[in-house]
Amino acid sequence: MTDVLDAIRNELPALQLLTDEIDRESYRRDEALHFEPELPLAVALPRTTEEVSAIVRIAAAHRVPVVPRGAGSGLSGGSAGIEGALTVALTRMNHILEIDRVNRVAVVQPGVINAELKAAVAREGLFYAPDPASYEFCTIGGNIGTNAGGLCCVKYGVTREAVAAVEVVLADGAVIRTGGRSVKDVAGYSLTQLMVGSQGTLGIITEATLRLRPAPHRSQTMLAFFPSLAAAADAVTRVMTGGLTPCTLELMDRFTIAAVDDWHRLELDRTAEALLLVESDLGGPAGEAEVAAAEAACRDAGASDVVRATDPVEADWLRQVRRMAYRALERLGACRMEDVAVPRSRLIDLLAEIARISERHGVRCGTFGHVGDGNLHPTFIWERGDDVAAARVEAACQDLYRAAMSLGGTLTGEHGIGATRVHLLAEQRGADALRVMQRIKSALDPDHILNPGRAVPLP
Ligand SMILES: Cc1cc2nc3c(=O)[nH]c(=O)nc-3n(C[C@H](O)[C@H](O)[C@H](O)COP(=O)(O)OP(=O)(O)OC[C@H]3O[C@@H](n4cnc5c(N)ncnc54)[C@H](O)[C@@H]3O)c2cc1C
Repeated sequence: MTDVLDAIRNELPALQLLTDEIDRESYRRDEALHFEPELPLAVALPRTTEEVSAIVRIAAAHRVPVVPRGAGSGLSGGSAGIEGALTVALTRMNHILEIDRVNRVAVVQPGVINAELKAAVAREGLFYAPDPASYEFCTIGGNIGTNAGGLCCVKYGVTREAVAAVEVVLADGAVIRTGGRSVKDVAGYSLTQLMVGSQGTLGIITEATLRLRPAPHRSQTMLAFFPSLAAAADAVTRVMTGGLTPCTLELMDRFTIAAVDDWHRLELDRTAEALLLVESDLGGPAGEAEVAAAEAACRDAGASDVVRATDPVEADWLRQVRRMAYRALERLGACRMEDVAVPRSRLIDLLAEIARISERHGVRCGTFGHVGDGNLHPTFIWERGDDVAAARVEAACQDLYRAAMSLGGTLTGEHGIGATRVHLLAEQRGADALRVMQRIKSALDPDHILNPGRAVPLP
């Protein structure tokens, strides 16, 4: 094993290569804390595409697997350590290379933090839409790796919609460029789209060209409280069938409302069974009209109270209520955030299934998420160190996955199959589709060097 490290040191003497156990320990896990990953052999922190290419070439020659990693905020074990493997963290490749206003694209290295890109393009009057709730600390490389979603996908779509091109290091160290800046481009297979969401199993992204939009207007924001989850789901239906296109449509259940309120004392209505966060970024009278129509839809569905932000500071507070959801639940004990999604028309059934599953297994669960996308994050909480409760949560999660699939949905809407859900991919996609995925993997990475066993099970 030290052969590979010697070879890397010889060829790349300036590369930062962490081999101390304490350093490697901090790259062992991502945020899927229920998953027990392994300790990487070493961690490389390259600064250039040439370094990434050389690392992968040398690793491949020694048959040593490589785990690409961004900020490690993933929730599926996708960038967690593999024993004997090299973790390649792209965090030092963190420059915004260009903002091209005519073509409305930004060219960035993979370690750029999502929020930094948003801020930089905003200074040019532009907007980078993808906004996972982790946007203040996750990287663009990780967002592309997972095809990250977020709070405004209901209007602007997921990361995939924003990726025009990537530079990618393949499993043998070769570097290719896919896509381009043209609005239209249908030459050959779309390798760009193949890379998006592949969780570092087909290549390591070393540069990305991302689509920008004109900056939207300042959001107009409201919270609506409901006496039941069914009423909140009904409001979602009314908003979506009413021809509205809110830029945010998020849900929190009673358990999550209480967790956020206990933490920050925001005087939220703790008797409500659910709240919806609704935002419009149309601006001016159009935005006013959209929020008013959303309020009417919520009231028609039985909302008990509606709070509208009167200024940007208040709007930011209302948004923070939702952004704090996971961290608030995390304070209550060991925590496992799930990520199921169903067609919007089946939301009410999914919410009922979550309640049934929690009760059947005797586990505490707070549910929040991107309800406008049909994507919910039921989050199970149990006493740290209580293995019996952890086993009950595990069983509840398996039931949850199957419930989502049986409703025509998916076991993961945005966090990815990673390492934690890989055993169920065949059940969702079917044996034939799985075989196609495995053939694609083997065609691009015949020796299974890149993040083996993640995203798609090994054949
Ligand atoms: C509080 C909190 C809120 C979150 N909210 C959301 C949310 O709203 N929506 C959402 O989608 N996710 C959310 N996440 C999950 C996570 O932040 C996203 O999955 C994010 O995209 C991961 O980015 P990262 O830089 O941390 O990548 P990592 O976790 O380091 O990596 C994620 C995956 O991408 C691969 N990868 C990383 N960099 C590259 C690269 N350069 N080339 C190829 N593959 C690469 C890795 O191998 C891994 O499989 C949340 C997480 C937390 C902790």
